[in-house]
Amino acid sequence: DPQVAKFVYDFTEGNKDLKDLLGGKGANLAEMTNLGLPVPPGFTITTDACKVYLDSGEEPVALRDEVTQHLDALEARMGKKLGQADNPLLVSVRSGAKFSMPGMMDTVLNIGLSDKSVQGLAKQAGDDRFAWDSYRRLIQMFGKTVLDVDGELFEDELEKAKHAKKVTVDTDLDAADLKKLVTRFKKIVKTEAGRDFPQDPREQMDLAIKAVFESWNTDRAKLYRRQERIPGDLGTAVNVCSMVFGNLGPDSGTGVAFTRDPASGHQGVYGDYLQNAQGEDVVAGIRNTVALAELENIDKKSYDQLMQIMETLENHYKDLCDIEFTIERGQLWMLQTRVGKRTAGAAFRIATQLVDQGLIDEAEALQRVTGAQLAQLMFPKFDEDAKVQQLGRGIAASPGAAVGKAVFDSYTAIKWSRSGEKVILIRRETNPDDLDGMIAAEGILTSRGGKTSHAAVVARGMGKTCVCGAEDLEVDTKRRRMTVGDVVVEEGDVVSIDGSSGKVYLGEVPVVPSPVVEYFEGRMHAGADDADELVGAVHRVMAYADRVRRLRVRANADNAEDALRARRFGAQGIGLCRTEHMFLGERREMVEKLILADTDAEREESLKQLLPLQKRDFVELFEAMDGLPVTIRLLDPPLHEFLPDITELSVRVALAESRQDANENDLRLLQAVHRLHESNPMLGLRGVRLGLVIPGLFAMQVRAIAEAAAERKNAKGDPRAEVMIPLVGTVQELEIVREEADRVIAEVEATSGVKLKLAIGTMIELPRAALTAGQIAEAAEFFSFGTNDLTQTVWGFSRDDVEASFFTAYLEKGIFGVSPFETIDKDGVGSLVRNAVEAGRATRPDLKLGVCGEHGGDPESVHFFHEVGLDYVSCSPFRIPVARLEAGRAAS
Ligand code: PEP
Ligand code: MG
Repeated sequence: DPQVAKFVYDFTEGNKDLKDLLGGKGANLAEMTNLGLPVPPGFTITTDACKVYLDSGEEPVALRDEVTQHLDALEARMGKKLGQADNPLLVSVRSGAKFSMPGMMDTVLNIGLSDKSVQGLAKQAGDDRFAWDSYRRLIQMFGKTVLDVDGELFEDELEKAKHAKKVTVDTDLDAADLKKLVTRFKKIVKTEAGRDFPQDPREQMDLAIKAVFESWNTDRAKLYRRQERIPGDLGTAVNVCSMVFGNLGPDSGTGVAFTRDPASGHQGVYGDYLQNAQGEDVVAGIRNTVALAELENIDKKSYDQLMQIMETLENHYKDLCDIEFTIERGQLWMLQTRVGKRTAGAAFRIATQLVDQGLIDEAEALQRVTGAQLAQLMFPKFDEDAKVQQLGRGIAASPGAAVGKAVFDSYTAIKWSRSGEKVILIRRETNPDDLDGMIAAEGILTSRGGKTSHAAVVARGMGKTCVCGAEDLEVDTKRRRMTVGDVVVEEGDVVSIDGSSGKVYLGEVPVVPSPVVEYFEGRMHAGADDADELVGAVHRVMAYADRVRRLRVRANADNAEDALRARRFGAQGIGLCRTEHMFLGERREMVEKLILADTDAEREESLKQLLPLQKRDFVELFEAMDGLPVTIRLLDPPLHEFLPDITELSVRVALAESRQDANENDLRLLQAVHRLHESNPMLGLRGVRLGLVIPGLFAMQVRAIAEAAAERKNAKGDPRAEVMIPLVGTVQELEIVREEADRVIAEVEATSGVKLKLAIGTMIELPRAALTAGQIAEAAEFFSFGTNDLTQTVWGFSRDDVEASFFTAYLEKGIFGVSPFETIDKDGVGSLVRNAVEAGRATRPDLKLGVCGEHGGDPESVHFFHEVGLDYVSCSPFRIPVARLEAGRAAS
C-alpha cells in the first residue's frame, strides 16, 4: 500500500544501490554520508512519492507528515528552523532521477528566505550584500522553475540595474541595489504568476517539491526518455539539502574535481575552483576559475581534506568519480559525487589501471568500456599539434575527420566529386533531395538541427562524418558561401570538420591514422609514449574479451583483401561472402547475359564463362582464410541491380530509333528489361528464387566452390567451405537446391578424388523462414540470420528508402530511439530469431547458428545474439574488434 510506504529517507538511511528509489544524486549523497564524508544534512523524497503524485495528481497523504518529521529532525540537528527570522535554516531542493535527464527541473537554492529572514541571514553572516543577493537568487530561480515565469524577465531587470549603475558584473551591485532588485523581482512574480512570492518557508519548500515531481513530464524530458528508451514511469526523487555557502568571502568558494583526468585517465589533481562563489557562478562563467591545484595555496587544510576524500571515493566506488564541493568559511562540504564521464581513450586506460591497482578484476574491466568507445578510437583524427583556425562548433553527429572543399548544394557536390575533388557538403539543413550529394561528400556540415536531424541520421547510417547544428555559421546557399563572424567561406575554400568533437576548421587540418587501427593492423605494438599506452590498454582489454566470450566473430567479406584484413582484426572465419559482389564491374555484363539468355545454349555459354572466374575468387578466399570456415552465399541480387536502368535504356533506344539506327541488341534488351521489370525488386526474383528459375546458375556456383576446395586440398591447404542459400521461405525450396548441390559435390569429389566436407545451410531472412525454422532445419546444417532482410520484411520497411524518407520523423517522435536496421528490434524481429533458434535446434541439436546482417557488428545487438545462444556473429571487417569486445562484455 503506497499510503503506508516510507516516502522520505534521511541521507543517513540510504545507500548507492538505491538509485531506483532515491535517484542517482540521492543515493550517492547517502553513500557519502555513510562513508563519514562531510555532506550537508538533508533528506530524499523517493521516486515512489513522485509516482503516486503523477498517477493521482496529488501527493500521497503520508508525505506531508513524513516531510515534517524529517524537517524537524534536520532543524534540531542544525539548531535553527527553516526560514527562522533571526537565524534561518535554508535548503536547496533538487531533482534527482535514476538517470540524469535534460528538461527536468534542476535546482532551487536558498529556500527559506523571506522579507524577514533575509535580515536574520544578513546579521548571522555579517554581510548585507550576501543576504540580499541570496534572496534575489531565490526569487529568480523560484519564479522561473516553480512558478513558470519567463527567466528573461529577471535577467533583463538585472541587466537594467547594472546598466543604471554603469557596472558590468553582478558583484558590483551593492546591498541597496540588490534590495531594490528584490522588490522588482517580486513585482515580476506578481504580474506574471498572478500571486505573491510566498513568504511562508514551508510553502516555498512544498511548491518546489511539487514542481520537481511535475518536471518529470515536461515535453523535453518525455522526448528524451523515448529516444533513450528510459521507461516513462520511473519518476524522480527530490533532494532537500541544507544550504552551505561558497560566497561568504575569500575563505569560501566552490569547485568541481575529478579523481583522475577524464581525458587521459591519469591520476592527479584535476578540477577547477572559484573563490567566493556559488556553484551556478562556475557554470555561468562569470569569473575565471583557477586550477584545483591552486586550492593548496588558498586553503591547505581544505585541500588536504579534499585529496583524502577523493582517494576514499575512488577506492570505494572503484572508479573515476566526479565531485562538486563547496567551502564555507574554511569548512569543506561535499555536494555531489557520481561515477564520472570520460573520453573513450580514458575509459580503456582507467579500466586497466584499476586492474593493476587491484581494485577491479578483468570481468569488471570489460564492463568499464564499450564497443562504441572502441569504435570511436578507430576513427582517424585530426592532428592535435596542427595549427588550426577554428570557425565554430556544432553537434558531433557522426564521428570521423573529414577535409574537403566547401560546396553548398548537392549538384555541385556530385559534379566536383566525380572530377576527383573531395568536398564537404554545407547546408542549413538537409532533406531527402540532398541524399546523392551527401553520398558524394567526404562529410556533411549543417547550421541547424540536432542529433536526430535528417543530416545526422542519414550520415550516421552511411558512416559519414557529420557536424550538425553549428549555429555560429551563417549558411547562404544562394550566394554559395557561409559567414562566421567576419570570416567568409566561399564555395571551393577548404574546410575540415571533426565529427567526434563537432569542431569546424578553416583550411586543411592534417589527419593522423588511429593508433588503435594501426595496432589491429599489426603496424604498432604497445610501448611507452602516449598513443602506445592507449594501445597497450586496448590490447589488454581485447585479450580479456577474447578469453571470456562465447560468441565467435566472423567477417562479411567478398575478396581476399578484405578477408586478410578481417583476419588481422581477429575474424574467426567468413560468415558471409556475397557472391553478387563478385560480379560487379566488367563481370556485370556476363550476369546480365545469363539473366537475359533466350536459349539453353546462350545460358550455358555464360555459365561456362563465369565458372573459372568464380573458382579463382574462391581459391583466393580459401587461401586467405585457410583453416577457418568460409560461408559462401549463392547469388542474391535484386534483379534490377544487374540489369540496365530501364529509363536510360528506353531513352537510348528512342533516340536511336529517331535516328533510325536502332540496334537489334538494344531492342532485345529493352524488351527483356520490360519483361523482367519489377515494382518491388526486393520482394521479387532474387535469392533462391533466381536459382530455381535459372537452370544451372546455382549448380555452377556450387561447382566452383567444390572445385576450388578440391584444388586447395590438393595444395595441402585447409579449406572449410560452407554453402549458403539465400532468401529461403520454405523447406521445399531448400530441398530442391540441396539435391542439386549434393549431386554436383559428389561429381567433383569423384573427378578430383578429394573428399570434400561441404556444409549446406540457409539464411533465415524472411518471416516465413523464421516461423517454419523447425522444418527448414531438416534440410539445413546451419542457419545464418539475415537480419537486414528480416527487419525489412517484418516491419515492412524498404531498407533502401526509409532511412532517408520518414525515419527522421520517427526518431523525432521517439517511436524508436535508433533505426531498427542499426540495432536489432528485440521485441519484433528478435522474437522471431529467438523462436527460430529454438525450433531449429529442436530439429537438429547440432545446428550451427550465426547472424550476418548489419546487426552482427552492433554492440547492443551482439548482446542480444549472445543471449539467444547463437554460435557466431558476422560483420564488416572494420567492426570485428567491436564485436569481439561486446561478445566478451556480454559473456562476462
Ligand atoms: C541480410 O539480409 O541480413 C543479409 C545479410 O543479406 P543482404 O544484406 O545481402 O541482403
Ligand atoms: Mg538478405
